[in-house]
Order: sequence, then structure tokens, then C-alpha cells
Amino acid sequence: MNTKATALMNNYARLPIAFTHGEGVYLFDSAGKAYLDALAGIAVCGLGHAHPELAQTLSEQAARLWHVSNLFEIPEQASAAEKIAALSGMDKVMFCNSGAEANEAAIKLSRLHARQKGIDRPAIISFYGGFHGRTFGAMAATANPKIRRGFEPHLNDFIHLPFNDIAAVEAQRYRPDIVAVMLECLQGEGGIYPVDKDYLRRIRQLCDERGWLLICDEVQIGICRSGKWFGYQHYDIQPDIITLAKGLGNGLPVGACAARGAAAEYFQAGLHGSTFAGTPLVMSVVNKTLDIYQRDRIAEHVQTTADYLRRQLQRRLGDLPLLKEIRGQGLMIGIELQQPVPQLVEKGLNKGVIFNITAEKVIRLLPPLIFKLEHADELVEKLYQILSTC
Ligand SMILES: *Cc1c(COP(=O)(O)O)cnc(C)c1O
Repeated sequence: MNTKATALMNNYARLPIAFTHGEGVYLFDSAGKAYLDALAGIAVCGLGHAHPELAQTLSEQAARLWHVSNLFEIPEQASAAEKIAALSGMDKVMFCNSGAEANEAAIKLSRLHARQKGIDRPAIISFYGGFHGRTFGAMAATANPKIRRGFEPHLNDFIHLPFNDIAAVEAQRYRPDIVAVMLECLQGEGGIYPVDKDYLRRIRQLCDERGWLLICDEVQIGICRSGKWFGYQHYDIQPDIITLAKGLGNGLPVGACAARGAAAEYFQAGLHGSTFAGTPLVMSVVNKTLDIYQRDRIAEHVQTTADYLRRQLQRRLGDLPLLKEIRGQGLMIGIELQQPVPQLVEKGLNKGVIFNITAEKVIRLLPPLIFKLEHADELVEKLYQILSTC
């Protein structure tokens, strides 16, 4: 197969490798070489590759019914919504096709919230280092100039503030046009920076006092990656809106926006939707994915594996001169280096391990959540071999 198809647009810097199949936490190329996957398709394939039960669910549904449109009832959506609501403490759920779309839904709910408050030109606080997606609303929420440049003018709803700086939020307290605060409990693309507990709790208080919606973008950390079902569950707070996507369908494209209280009722018929959102095909896999996560106690498994992996990383890599800091939560781990290392990802591929670099010098580990201790050992050893010779 031609992997360098010249008819493709150039919007990705692709590595020169095409995988032919996967099994569990490994991917294989056409030469049969195995790669330990510590990326999981960017925090997507939590249950690994070619999960037999998911493959069976998908193929059975594929033989039954794919798509009917949201003009009709889709029981698979209703049951997945029940599950997500019960796990998250939210009241209602709406499905879409990606993380960016989930955030668009949250932004539209914020606009409807503004109408309730009689605000014509509403503002939403979001944070430097955050990432919310590439569509116009989600891109406007994202402060990173690399993502915004060239696409001006941007939607101007967003006020970008420094992350984990409560004084910066307090300073906006009496601005009358603010309707929401949008954040990641652990900034993923921004370099694996967790939110401070007191800070997040204070933001929750401010939201209550001021009638702002607290929107947690759980697209990357949600669905057990942190060792709990959702990132905010580490902080004993409840957001008003959450957005989900990456891990939700184990690789089928799906997103969700869940809300509670008044915000859960803002979308009435005709106000928002998508042709493809929540097809029986995709939702059958979402239901099965959620069931397997519960049955196999994936959240607890992540805690155990992550504790072990973090300790081993610290023990084996901690003294390397190149290493600056290891941080993160659950199986969302950042290894910050003193300086960027050219071709580091390629060096990993040569050694048969897949990881990603974010924020230029942070090795980001997002392995499948079914990672076992032996996989953690293999990963640490391979990283040591690579980093000790850089
Ligand atoms: C990946 C990501 C998004 C965007 O999701 P897409 O499915 O790529 O649109 C939004 N927010 C966060 C936190 C993400 O990690």
C-alpha cells in the first residue's frame, strides 16, 4: 500500500510507519515487528487493540443496523447516557462525534446560559496550557498560539488566564459578562500539568457564587485514565458540564457532553444536533466499552499499574542528567526532559516502543489502561536504553 499518498493534505507530520494489526498493548508493522504501545492512539484505545469482545460487538451490530439518524429513537444512546450519568453524577448526556464537538456543545450551552442571565455578549474563562480542540469554538478556547495562528479572527468569547493562579480568576470575579469556566483537571497537550486541589475547589465556589458554569474538559483524562472514572472525582467537586471523547469508544469516533441542573435542560429539540451523532453502530461499542470497564474494574487496575509504573520510572530514570521531572496522574504521565531531544520518537520506534512528545520536551505516556506490570517493566527498560544514550 502506498503510505505516502500525495493526494492527502499535509495537515499531519506523520511518522513513516504503517501498522497492519494490533493485539492488546502491541501494534505490528508489515515486517511483523512488535511495538509496545504507550500512546494508545492518543489516549483512545484504553482496552487495547483488537479487543475480542469489542470486535464481536461491532461485527454483530454491523450485521444488524448501522445508522438511522436522530429522527428516531436509538435505545443504545439511551442506555449509554444512563451509564455515563450514573458514573459521573451528571443528569443528562448528549452524543457527538469528537472531543472538539463535545466542547462546541458545552460552549453552546454556555451561550444559552447567557440568555438565561440576560447577557448579550458572554465571556468564558479558559487557561493557558489548555487544549480543547480544533474547531472554531474549541480553538478559541485554546490559548496556544501555535493552534490559533493563521485562523484569525477568532470567536472572542474566551478570556485566557494563567493556570493554577487563583488571583487571576479572583480578579475577574465581578466581571458581569462571564458565564462559564472551562478547564482540564490535568492539562494533557499542554505538558501534563495537574490542577491544584485548592484552586479547583475555589473555582467551584466562585462558579456557585457568580452563577458561572464549571465545564471540565474530560476528553483526555476521562473514562478511567486518571485512576478514577473522571478527573474531577479526585477533587471532591462536581462540575456543571463535562465533555468526553477519546476513551469512550475505544477507537470508534464518538464524543459526549453531559450536564446537570438547569444546563441539562437548555438543549431543546432543534437547538443542536449532528447527522452522525450516536449511531447504533458506534453506541453499541460505547455500551460494551463502558460495561467492560466496570466489569474488569479498570479504574482500580489503573491505580495499581500507575503506582508501579511511576515508581519504576523514578527509580530507573530519576538520576539521568537529561531528566527534569516525572509528573501526572494515573496512566497519563509526563517525563519532562531538560531539553528537547531530536528524533526521540523515532528512536523509540527503532526500539519497538511508541510514545509521544508534547510541549517540545515532555515524553507523554498514555498507554492502554489494560497495561500490566510486565508491560510497565518493558516500557521503563526501553525508555532507559533510549534516554541513557541520548
Ligand atoms: C484531544 C482533546 C480534545 C479534542 O478532541 P478531538 O476528538 O481531537 O476533537 C479536546 N480536549 C482535550 C482535553 C483533548 O485532549
